Amino acid sequence: MMQKKRFTLIELLVVIAIIAILASMLLPALGKARHKATEIKCVGNFSQMGKGFMMYSDDNDDQLVPYWNSVNNSWDNGNGRGWFDGSVTTGLVAPYLNHVVRGATLGGWYRSWDNAFIASPFACPARKPLGYILSNYEVGKNVYLHGLGINSRMGDTTHRKQKLGAVKKPARSAYIGEGLYNSAYVNWSSGSRVVYPHEYNSEFDQASFLSNGPGKSTFLFMDFHAECMPRTIVPNSTRDNYHAAYATFWLFNPLSSTELSLFHDKW
Ligand SMILES: [Zn+2]
Repeated sequence: MMQKKRFTLIELLVVIAIIAILASMLLPALGKARHKATEIKCVGNFSQMGKGFMMYSDDNDDQLVPYWNSVNNSWDNGNGRGWFDGSVTTGLVAPYLNHVVRGATLGGWYRSWDNAFIASPFACPARKPLGYILSNYEVGKNVYLHGLGINSRMGDTTHRKQKLGAVKKPARSAYIGEGLYNSAYVNWSSGSRVVYPHEYNSEFDQASFLSNGPGKSTFLFMDFHAECMPRTIVPNSTRDNYHAAYATFWLFNPLSSTELSLFHDKW
């Protein structure tokens, strides 16, 4: 009679140990793939939004989408319509993108009085603002969070309503980027008001103020291409001194002789 061959306990444990080792080798790779997938999705969102920004200029005498009204410094273009307004009837860019979503700003989020949580289809998949909302706002109130910030140079009196055709190096000048939840612009100053949610384990905006830390952030450039770039190459005034303010990245169209003399491409 033939004896049945059986695994001993030791053999079984060895097999389990080998599987565990293989899994531990595979998991970091999966994490990386997931990072890459959210990055690709985010860049895709920015490119898509870029088409809306491009069409706005086409329809408005080649002007860039305004940062705010040059007359009263409010978030509109004089008609009560903001660039980040997510409504297809009142937004400046939303109508070109058929952005039909309750409450959420373009690329942002909305928590309603009746506790619905709505994300713009263009919201960055690497960001999770729910914890921020829960710790900063009481239930029963409308909360609007921004996901995008426009280059604040467009708020300078001299740079407002600049024409797209006048931008000197469109492929290297930032149009919109990923900004703080409570701010609708990004700029060159110490924290740059830019957040770096990609490949970076922090959901807290403030932690992103490190001038040379980890993380990547997506930008739409003025030639309408989008790129997810590491924090270390985005010019900011803490690390790069005044150069940051006069890099092509932020100063898309130097107009005064002072600006031109300081114009400095370091990034
Ligand atoms: Zn993103």
